Amino acid sequence: MTGSTILYGKPIAEATENEVRRRAELLRNRIGRAPRLAAILVGDDPASRVYVRNKEAACQRAGLESHVHRLPTATSEEDLLSLIEQLNGDSNVDGILVQLPLPESIDERTVLDAIDPTKDVDGFHPLNVGLLAQGRPRFVPCTPLGILELLRSHQIDVAGCHAVVVGRSDIVGKPMALLLAQRRPAIEGGPANATVTIAHSRTPDLPTVTRQADLLVVAAGQPRMITADMVRHGAIVIDVGINRVDGKLVGDVDFESVREVSRAITPVPGGVGKLTVAMLLRNTLSAAEARAAATSSAV
Ligand code: NAD
Repeated sequence: MTGSTILYGKPIAEATENEVRRRAELLRNRIGRAPRLAAILVGDDPASRVYVRNKEAACQRAGLESHVHRLPTATSEEDLLSLIEQLNGDSNVDGILVQLPLPESIDERTVLDAIDPTKDVDGFHPLNVGLLAQGRPRFVPCTPLGILELLRSHQIDVAGCHAVVVGRSDIVGKPMALLLAQRRPAIEGGPANATVTIAHSRTPDLPTVTRQADLLVVAAGQPRMITADMVRHGAIVIDVGINRVDGKLVGDVDFESVREVSRAITPVPGGVGKLTVAMLLRNTLSAAEARAAATSSAV
């Protein structure tokens, strides 16, 4: 066995929660209420229910208020849009998130576009995506933000490295690639200035591409697809995948074989997943702080 470092998310998630709790308390003393997240869950997808419960519990631990709007699968797009409109106009709501996926009868894009961009704590609104693309992010999507935080905490400098991101989703792959390539780090002292390749389901000869990576981020949703022979010796490997195989959670990386060749690797569970929720808390707090600052300067 080589000395691959295991990059655990939990200590960083806990430190983030503590910091959010401290700042949320300060804000509450100032404005008389805690930062507030409104979450919308449509339908009864079991994984989504677990994710939303975890988010609620994390809010509670960090001193944020959360309210989950649980709607039946048969909810119409119109009704969902009118709930969003109501939350957009509610000055006591700082952050809004719609748990994905939505039932097929509802157009995801239309719904995400309807969220007030200043309350879009998931960072999926086109305005926030555009700001991120231009290197002046407001809300960075939580999973890529957690990965930046993980790399910063472990003092992993990616400047000049070749980063390969496997996956091009709007939620993980695309924002991750943009963030790693940017000149100015999205978080102070965080990673930036990597040379980035995006690989996806139509990439021919994926192993040749992944073997070029100094930093390999995998968000494909394919259990254990990245094996040791696809990884350069000494690479840093970030596994975003969450797949259930025979009742067990596994990543997109074959952890046991890849840890033998990598310099550092995230486990699943216990790696990136822990950070995603912590970053949601941070984005919600930032939304509340920005709202409070805008309100006080308007008086
Ligand atoms: P997605 O299905 O939207 O996108 C998957 C991407 O992977 C696509 O762009 C596709 O082109 C690419 N891909 C699929 N098969 C491939 C293959 N064989 N070779 C190369 N590329 C391939 O998924 P997503 O929302 O980006 O999520 C990806 C994974 O990350 C899933 O397992 C998801 O559960 C997990 N996830 C984890 C967190 C977390 O907090 N850890 C957050 C979001 C998503």
